[in-house]
Amino acid sequence: MSDGFRGCYKLNGEVTDRLGFYGDHDPVELVRRFGSPLYLYSEDILRANCRTLKNMCTYKNFRVNFSVKANTNLAIIRIAREEGLCADAMSPGEIAAVMAAGYEAPEILFIPNNVSGEEMRFAAEKGIMISVDSLSQLDLFGRLFPGKSVAVRLNPGIGAGHHEKVVTAGDAAKFGVNLAELPEIKEILRRRGLRLAGLSQHIGSKFMDSGAYIMDIRNLLAAAEEFPGLDFIDFGGGFGIPYRKQENEPPMDMGRTGVLLDAIMSDFAARYGKEVQFIVEPGRYVAAEAGVLLGTVHAIKHNGSIKFIGTDIGMNTLMRPALYDSHHDIEVYSLNPPAGGPEAVSVVGNICESGDILAKDRPLPRISEGDVLGVLDAGSYGYSMSSNYNMRLRPAEVLLRSNGEAAVIRERDSLEDLLRNQRMIDI
Ligand SMILES: *Cc1c(COP(=O)(O)O)cnc(C)c1O
Repeated sequence: MSDGFRGCYKLNGEVTDRLGFYGDHDPVELVRRFGSPLYLYSEDILRANCRTLKNMCTYKNFRVNFSVKANTNLAIIRIAREEGLCADAMSPGEIAAVMAAGYEAPEILFIPNNVSGEEMRFAAEKGIMISVDSLSQLDLFGRLFPGKSVAVRLNPGIGAGHHEKVVTAGDAAKFGVNLAELPEIKEILRRRGLRLAGLSQHIGSKFMDSGAYIMDIRNLLAAAEEFPGLDFIDFGGGFGIPYRKQENEPPMDMGRTGVLLDAIMSDFAARYGKEVQFIVEPGRYVAAEAGVLLGTVHAIKHNGSIKFIGTDIGMNTLMRPALYDSHHDIEVYSLNPPAGGPEAVSVVGNICESGDILAKDRPLPRISEGDVLGVLDAGSYGYSMSSNYNMRLRPAEVLLRSNGEAAVIRERDSLEDLLRNQRMIDI
């Protein structure tokens, strides 16, 4: 480096070192090159996660749909496709994204919630299968496309997840058709001449233990037996990842989950008399651990007894802590050598909101102004939930390629981007 940069001190870089996340790259140098904050992804880790999912079951007709709302970057989606994952889309925008990344209609499942007829048409005209999630949406589909094939998302009764805001089954959730309404489903299918091609469910996000998942699958399969001739049954997503690796939180046992699923799938196929396709829909699992969000420390101060580390990682850049009180491990990369043991600090962003807190009362190594922080496990629901709140620029995304290159896969917003859709009128 011309400015004599010799690399940073990783004050607590054990997790990324163990994962080999940065390869030969230096996180501080990457921030200098691509700007701060910065979403970074590891191609190796992304591909490894895709393979874990692809290989978790041996049942022949097993399909993994990447739920791309977790990460809508075209390069990430394309790598997932190359690794043999299909795709789930929640909106016409996500359909456009997965198609731009190379997916074809038969590889896509549209699972929307409360959409207009126009949005259904957007998918149906491309030949994309739709899974509707209420009786009224099923009837709307039937009015628009009588005689066509459709899937229905059921609410299997038991939810799971890390926060009440991500539990998507059970009586309190807005999703799915209640199991008690199977007769009404049949009635609409008959009345509109529809063919039920598939059933789906999604019980919630980030469970680490497959207990509730397996129970709901049993409920779903009991319902499926009432519908002969299904092409597919979709178990949904929600596979968790350990967000507390610094405390040695163990990963989910995907091997065991796969063995349980295999037994259930082959059992059902034998009973049902047809080798239905079974689908899982991981979102977070695909990219979360493949992403680190880097940001810079700009201010350090005490308010009373609390020491605040002021960074450029606002809630607009990573929303999960503010929205769900989510924990993300943080690593510190410094230009200065280690200067004392850990101390409890609050790491905050640059947004004008008291809730703009990345980590509360978190023991971290001594931090200095100018240090770079690495927020781990930020590859899913990171960039995809980011916004321009406070007229902040969303960061660039960079992929650390398996061949050692660092490739920009999304440019940082510009000031022009922020104003692009506004129209000044005569005032
Ligand atoms: C969000 C979502 C998923 C993926 O959830 P994860 O918790 O990220 O695995 C799968 N299916 C549906 C229908 C979803 O809405």
